[in-house]
Amino acid sequence: MQNDLHDLVRRAIRSVPDWPKPGVTFRDITPVLQDPRAFRVLIDLFVYRYMRQRLDLVAGIDARGFIVGSVLAYELNLGFVPVRKQGKLPSRTVSESYVLEYGNATVEMHADAVRTGQRVLLVDDLIATGGTMLAGIKLLQRLGANVVEAAAVIDLPELGGSRAIAATGTPLYTVCQFG
Ligand code: AMP
Repeated sequence: MQNDLHDLVRRAIRSVPDWPKPGVTFRDITPVLQDPRAFRVLIDLFVYRYMRQRLDLVAGIDARGFIVGSVLAYELNLGFVPVRKQGKLPSRTVSESYVLEYGNATVEMHADAVRTGQRVLLVDDLIATGGTMLAGIKLLQRLGANVVEAAAVIDLPELGGSRAIAATGTPLYTVCQFG
């Protein structure tokens, strides 16, 4: 049953070859969001996993992590905080930079988004190299959060991100994998 539900989500994901550049296969979750059954199954898989975990807050990564994370927060009766790309948040921020294939990227949170000791779940759509998720985990930890788990819809295990995240000691949950 559990595997059927994971498969239902996986089958709804669209793979777009050579986008945004040659050699990359983009794993597009918009068809999951568009299909009411797949969207509900996706959110419910997360709800069942986290409803007994005594979380305080869900954090979501810009931009697809906002969609999954905010619906999940609502369903779990928790608050939601965004981990945004640089320059988007209006109040005082903390930031964390990380290395991309070409150049750098920076994610930011409001400095008052999390209180020390709060139990936080961090959500994004996909783990590739893991750089984005790791930067989000570091930001939350710098603000004093206890990052109970990182969660994503998709893992691309061959890119090593899930291994790198596991090595930091923060548990990682993903709904499905693509090789
Ligand atoms: P990374 O930091 O390398 O783990 O990349 C993960 C972030 O980049 C996520 O926020 C994804 O939305 C995006 N991303 C990276 N690779 C892909 C891909 N093949 N398909 C869809 N999104 C991707």
